[in-house]
Amino acid sequence: MGMIKLKNVSKYYYSKGIIASGISRVNLELDAGEFVVITGESGSGKSTLLNVISGLDTYEEGEMYIEGNETSHYTASDFENYRQQYISCIFQSFNLVSSYTVFQNVALAMQIDGCDPAVIRQKVTDIIKKVGLYDFRNRKVSKLSGGQKQRVAIARALAKDTKILVADEPTGNLDSESAEGIVELLTDIASDKLVIVVTHNYEQFKDHATRIIKMHDGKIVEDTGRSVRRAAETVASYGHRSSRGEHRAKKDSITYGTQLKLGVRNTFNLPAKLLLLLLVFLFVISSVSAQYVSVKKQKDTVSEVGWNNYFSNYDPKRIVVEKQDKSAFTRADYEALENAPHVEKLIREDIMYDSSLYIENEELSFYGYVLSTSNLDKTPDLGKMPKAENEVVLAGYDDGWTFGEKPDDFIGKTFTVSVDGSVEHKIKVTGIVILGTGDDMENMYAEGNMIYFSDSLVSEIRKEMYASNSTTALMVNGTEQILYPGSGGLNTNENVPEGYILLPTSFDPMFKEGYAAGKEVELSAKAIYYDQKLKLMIMGTYGEKTFERKTGLKNLEEHDGEIYINEMDYRRLYEKGNFQASVFVDDTKNLEGMKDMLERGGYHTMVLRDHINNFIDEELVNIIQLPIAVIVCLAVFFIAYFVIRLILKSRGVYFATLRMLGMGKEPARRIMRVELVLDCLISYALFMLFIYLNRTGVVNSEKLLDHLTYLTLRDYIILAVILLVMAVLISDRFMRSIFKSSAMGIYREEA
Ligand code: ADP
Ligand code: MG
Repeated sequence: MGMIKLKNVSKYYYSKGIIASGISRVNLELDAGEFVVITGESGSGKSTLLNVISGLDTYEEGEMYIEGNETSHYTASDFENYRQQYISCIFQSFNLVSSYTVFQNVALAMQIDGCDPAVIRQKVTDIIKKVGLYDFRNRKVSKLSGGQKQRVAIARALAKDTKILVADEPTGNLDSESAEGIVELLTDIASDKLVIVVTHNYEQFKDHATRIIKMHDGKIVEDTGRSVRRAAETVASYGHRSSRGEHRAKKDSITYGTQLKLGVRNTFNLPAKLLLLLLVFLFVISSVSAQYVSVKKQKDTVSEVGWNNYFSNYDPKRIVVEKQDKSAFTRADYEALENAPHVEKLIREDIMYDSSLYIENEELSFYGYVLSTSNLDKTPDLGKMPKAENEVVLAGYDDGWTFGEKPDDFIGKTFTVSVDGSVEHKIKVTGIVILGTGDDMENMYAEGNMIYFSDSLVSEIRKEMYASNSTTALMVNGTEQILYPGSGGLNTNENVPEGYILLPTSFDPMFKEGYAAGKEVELSAKAIYYDQKLKLMIMGTYGEKTFERKTGLKNLEEHDGEIYINEMDYRRLYEKGNFQASVFVDDTKNLEGMKDMLERGGYHTMVLRDHINNFIDEELVNIIQLPIAVIVCLAVFFIAYFVIRLILKSRGVYFATLRMLGMGKEPARRIMRVELVLDCLISYALFMLFIYLNRTGVVNSEKLLDHLTYLTLRDYIILAVILLVMAVLISDRFMRSIFKSSAMGIYREEA
């Protein structure tokens, strides 16, 4: 049996509902050593026959045998294997890679076969010499003449070194002189291979062909038969072949190194194409990163804009702390916190930081948070630092409103301040810190006005605040009465000794004998941090007549219902240490780390930023912003895909050529991936360069500044991964569309 045998093979073309017959019921047997010329007028089925034999097209009827094996059940990949092993093609349209040099084109077939690079170099050089193109070996194919291109195509077919070489109109585009050379080359090759040439120009081959097949209307109408002379040489040429087979150093298939090399070469060998692709990827990178930034920014904004019902200062850097054992802060605690890394400042009198006080006199008033002068980190802009205990510094915006027209008016003036209107203190303003002008306000968080008091005044005010912030209750004979400090409620009185309490007569009936005096009651003050109880002896009760004598006060009407204890007991009840402080971190980035550190250090923490009631829910960002970002990224993906497909239109022919030379789907896909991933990486590097230039101030763009503030190293890595995945997906999609049609189909589309 011959190398190739066709039995009643028919091939039909289906296009636009019309069935055309390519070849019908063809019988043929071909062998090594033959130089077969197929001829016939245009449309007679020559090309179809050749394509069927070379496995580029399928057939519908009959059977084709390859070295005795049936092929009617062959899958596409079976034919791909067959082509790789048996067939070298020379096309009328050359199908060379025009951006590759002569050498690169010829080497391609051997690289796809996985040959050793040294072997490739040697053999390709030999072949190029043989076809007379040695001087042109490093010239790009696009710069060659038609005759030279045809010789490159032949050289490439020779380099592949297969048993069968097919050529469709190999001299069609050439002048008669070049054609002559080609025919001689083919004749030479035919000595140890099966060479099949399709031509409508029979004259050029008739002196060299060993067999002539003439076609008409899809059928063989004339066949000179197998040449006796050549058939006799067949055995010898087979022997010759097998001895040559060893130094081909052929591996199973193309190596990873070659795939990488081809991908890199494809990336750079067409500068215009590279530039366009880089632009597309820059577009992809900037759109995806813009989306990424906008989601991140939205989340950040959401977590910083809002309000808190209990803490009026919800600076995002603030962490409220209390000790886990609920005890008061000690000096050592303060110092440890103040010296901890990433602590920008420590607010000791935390309870007051969230409470504001009025100071006022006949002309002026000011409203601000209570702080200690120890928190004042700069000297006053106006006036001077306080010295005496009753001197204060004010801090606020010079907006023509906070301090009125002239902030200087406050300096040296005396004001009164009181907590809950009960106790009044006289203070004097010695200095003013200007936080900014009215224009700066919109950039600020809840940083309001502040009043810096001396430490002793701060602790006095704190005591009063605790009194007004705690629940004071009197347990009388099993019933509880809620008291309020101040007029009409609980007060201090010098006439009452420590451990005693003076009550109005209205309390007498609550006791069995109608006498309260000498009985014991329990007075308690409760706040979140403490529950202070005092056991007191009822000193007696006062009525209308005894009021002045027992209390030393006048006008019972003004003091009706008041309860009196000694000053010392009052202090025991309310003069508490500080139970709550605020740590401000230097950067919101460090919030989490600081929180962990504080928790380990024995504090309960509350990161205020996490307890802000937001105008926009963070969930909402996830629900709305995230899907939008994903949709935009998908849109970008498809736009990029179609643009890249347009830019890489000619790659279809390139990959069809690789397939024709026997490359499988996987290596082709990897070569494409290398190219697009490289494009993507270069664009990303350009993008980073741009950001770098922006940072150094060479370029200035607001959008990029956003990137600078919102992207961390981790984000850049995530972005790079997203982009690389996109590049790979685009590449794979592109290859799928290329591999959907057969290699021949792509050539036909291009033609
Ligand atoms: P030749 O190479 O001898 O000119 P072909 O093998 O190209 O002839 O064509 C044989 C027949 O098949 C012709 O009738 C032609 O019209 C038809 N044919 C070839 N290719 C296609 C195709 N892609 N689609 C439809 N019909 C085709
Ligand atoms: Mg043809």
